[in-house]
Amino acid sequence: MITAKARAVDGPDKQFHATEIKRRDLDSHDVLIEIKYAGICHSDIHTAHGEWGEVNYPLVPGHEIAGVVSAIGPNVTKYKVGDRVGVGCMVDSCGECENCRQGEEQYCLKGNIPTYAGVDKYGEPTQGGYSTHIVVTEDFVLRIPDNIELDVAAPLLCAGITTYSPLNHWKSGPGKKVAVVGMGGLGHMAVQIAHAMGAEVTVLSQTLNKKEDGLQLGADNYYATSNPEVFENLAGSFDLIINTVSAKLNMDDYFGLLTLDGVLVNVGAPAEPLSVNVFSLIGHRRSFAGSMIGGIRETQEMLDFCATHNIVPKIEVISADSIDEAYERVLASDVKYRFVIDVSTM
Ligand code: NAP
Ligand code: ZN
Repeated sequence: MITAKARAVDGPDKQFHATEIKRRDLDSHDVLIEIKYAGICHSDIHTAHGEWGEVNYPLVPGHEIAGVVSAIGPNVTKYKVGDRVGVGCMVDSCGECENCRQGEEQYCLKGNIPTYAGVDKYGEPTQGGYSTHIVVTEDFVLRIPDNIELDVAAPLLCAGITTYSPLNHWKSGPGKKVAVVGMGGLGHMAVQIAHAMGAEVTVLSQTLNKKEDGLQLGADNYYATSNPEVFENLAGSFDLIINTVSAKLNMDDYFGLLTLDGVLVNVGAPAEPLSVNVFSLIGHRRSFAGSMIGGIRETQEMLDFCATHNIVPKIEVISADSIDEAYERVLASDVKYRFVIDVSTM
C-alpha cells in the first residue's frame, strides 16, 4: 500500500482537514502518479455537500488531476516514469460494453468508475485528486502536451473535455452561432474552444462584470441575462447553446433563443430538476440535450487541440488550506475562472 497525504471532508457541512489515505499497490497495468495540481470543479462542491445524493464520507474530491508518473506496473506500455500526465473524472470502466468499445467510456453501460465517490474493481472506495498520489490503470491516464504547464493542464481534464465534447458532437464551427451560458470554470473554456473551432460565440452571463475577459477569450458578443430585453433581442439566434450553469434556470427563456433545429445542451448539473414547457421546443423543432465529460480518446484529442490552439484556463492557484474559502467563492460566482490546488502545500 502507498500512503498519500490528502484533504478530506467528513460531511456536507464540514470543513476540509488534512488526512492520509491508502493507494493500492501497482497492479500490472497501473501507473502511480505524483500529483502536482488539482482543479476545483463545481461538481466537487455538489458532491461534497451531498447535493447529488448520498456520499460515503470521508470524501477526497478532485477530478482535474495533473502530475508526473513516479512508478509503473510491470506490463505498462503507454507511460514511463517522468511522463507528464493527467487524470479526469473516471478511473476505469468495463471496457467491454458497446459504449466502452466506441470510446465513450463515460457512458459505460455498467457505469464508469468515478475518480472519487465511487467503488473500484477491487471493491475499495475511490478517492480523488486533493492528494499527493493516485494509482490509475494506464488506459485512463492522459498525456499532457509539452507546451501546457501542469497547473493550467489540470482543469482541462474536466472543464476542458466537458465543453469540448458537446461542441464537437453538435458540430460547432464556421457558420455556427454558439451561446455559452455562465462564465465560470466550464463556461470560460467553452468560449475559448468554440472560438478556436471557428464558431461565432456569445456569452450569456448574469452580469457584464466579466465582459472584458469574455471578449479577450474569444467571445464575439457578451450579454447580461439580468436584462430581460436580451431574451427578446436574441430570440431565434443560436444554433447551439451550452448551458454550464450550476443552478436552476428558467429553461424556456433559453429555448426561445434557439434557431429552427437548434440544440440546447445542458452540461450544468444542478441538483434541482429543470422544468420544460414543451411548446418552447416543438415550435421550432428544437432539442434539449445533455452531455457528460467525454471519452478517453476524445479527452486526449481535446488536450492536443488545446495545445495546438494555445488554449488554457485562467486559474488562481491556492494552497490546500484554502479549499473551504475557494468553495465559498465558487458558490458566489467569484472565481476567475478556476481554482487549482498546489498539491505541494498538502
Ligand atoms: P462554476 O465555475 O461555478 O460556473 C458556473 C457559472 O454559472 C457561474 O460562474 C455563473 O456564471 C453561473 N451561475 C451560477 N449560479 C447561477 C444562477 N443562480 N443563475 C444564473 N447563473 C448562475 O461551475 P463549473 O465548475 O463551471 O460547473 C458548472 C456546472 O457544470 C456544475 O453544475 C457542475 O457540476 C457541472 N459539471 C458537469 C459536468 C458534466 O459532465 N456534465 C462536468 C463538470 C461540471 P456567471 O457569473 O457568468 O453568470
Ligand atoms: Zn468536474
